[in-house]
Amino acid sequence: MPQHFDMVLKGGRIFDGTGNPSYVADIGITESRIARIGYIEEDASEIADVRGFAVSPGFIDLHNHSDHTILPFPDAENYIMQGVTTSLGGNCGISMAPLSADFCKLTRDYLSPFLHPGYEYGWDWKNTGEFSRKIQENGTTQNVGFLIGHGTLRIAVKGFDRGACSPEEMRKMRALLDEAMEEGAFGLSAGLIYSPGSYASEEELSELTARIGKIGGFFALHMRNESDQLIESVEEAVRITEKSGAALHISHLKAGGRPNWGKVHGALAVMDEARARGMNVTCDAYPYNAGMTTITALLPPWTLEGGVNALLSRLGDPDSRETIIRDLREGAVGFENWLRNIGCSNVGIAACPSARRYEGMTLQEIAREKSPEFHEGFLNWLIEVECNATMVLFSLYEDDVDFVISHPLSCVVSDGWITSPKAGGKPHPRGYGTFPRFLARYVREKRLLSLEEAVRKITSLPASIMCLKDRGMIREGFRADLVVFDPAKIRDKATFEEPHQFPEGIHSVVVNGRKVVSGGCLTGARPGNVLIKGEYSLESS
Ligand SMILES: [Zn+2]
Repeated sequence: MPQHFDMVLKGGRIFDGTGNPSYVADIGITESRIARIGYIEEDASEIADVRGFAVSPGFIDLHNHSDHTILPFPDAENYIMQGVTTSLGGNCGISMAPLSADFCKLTRDYLSPFLHPGYEYGWDWKNTGEFSRKIQENGTTQNVGFLIGHGTLRIAVKGFDRGACSPEEMRKMRALLDEAMEEGAFGLSAGLIYSPGSYASEEELSELTARIGKIGGFFALHMRNESDQLIESVEEAVRITEKSGAALHISHLKAGGRPNWGKVHGALAVMDEARARGMNVTCDAYPYNAGMTTITALLPPWTLEGGVNALLSRLGDPDSRETIIRDLREGAVGFENWLRNIGCSNVGIAACPSARRYEGMTLQEIAREKSPEFHEGFLNWLIEVECNATMVLFSLYEDDVDFVISHPLSCVVSDGWITSPKAGGKPHPRGYGTFPRFLARYVREKRLLSLEEAVRKITSLPASIMCLKDRGMIREGFRADLVVFDPAKIRDKATFEEPHQFPEGIHSVVVNGRKVVSGGCLTGARPGNVLIKGEYSLESS
């Protein structure tokens, strides 16, 4: 009996996500799944002629901060227009849950640089399950999953206290982690340059990753240092995880600052050795030579003990101020000193909600307005804007980016968040351009890897790290998350000067069997689901 399909994509070249050679075939979609791959003669409610186009699984962004802004921007247009059909939030130790009654205010301070200013979040969830349901009810165009951030977890138990965790505090953290994993989190993330993540010892992290090893999931780590201590930091990551049985995923692998350029080779060699011993180690990278983060990452970690208000009073106190400036000038143990590594002219302000005029200026230009002495000017400005700003750091070496991106262990990711042209500011262009840029610049122009291999790095590789059961490949029975693009024309348009620009060369995007981009434009459909580890999604579980 002839089968009826809801949609047939006719005659596209299939890049199935595995890295296997591409081929031409039709794809028949019924409801949310790929029903058939081959030559399809039967009727369909919608037939799209995609001859001459590539058809790949929807791109999966394993390193994303979408959880912070998905409530105000459920359409995720900056990602959907790139072909990203699934993103994983909660990276770098920074997740929206859990929220404890004791320290909710501190968690909100911790998250505030990443949130959309002016949006009323409500803060009416306590854990990952409640947060997931809120997202699902609000509607989402993309599929989204979450990691539990170690920083958020630690604040929920201990606030911004710097001390080691007591056995009772460790027990509480383990219980909250177990609860989050039961509610469908994909693993644990940590950000060891951010307070309070930076206060954690190796033992604390080992104990938590051991839980992950037992119950499944992976450990995504923004390492303690990505510049002069890069190799030592990869070794620490391996030590933390090796005995636990958890898969280790090193986030945004890079070597920041000119004296450290080239160290990514040594870093990947340490990872290759760990793999040879049997460890499951992977990493990710974004296709740009600049990173982005919150402005307080420039300060020594001790300054953030007690949260942002405590930091602001230290910035105003002459004695603490003197110590801060000394640490900034001379460095301190355990402090990744970006200002010293790359210089203030290589730090650009991305967003500064309280004073938009600073957006796009370098820190050097801003500090000069405030004082003839750079550090005095910088700290005065921090007080003025209450430390609420994000920055772009131009710190990476092109050859390093090429090397990491083309290494078989790396996924290509954005490390961005959901935004919109309406949101303004100067966010890192990766939020709009990562995936088209990877395919245009690194595959088509530089020819560093084949299109098949490139598609694998943004589909089946991240899907396998997340243990997704039915996404990341074009297979009969898998979810119909698909991107149709022109390999000769796909390119990013977003720049540091003009970041809010959609890419070119993407014909259509399908999420769970429904078109979300058609003819290069958003359709407005919101077929996305919150993904639950071990289940298919919140909707189908
Ligand atoms: Zn990070």
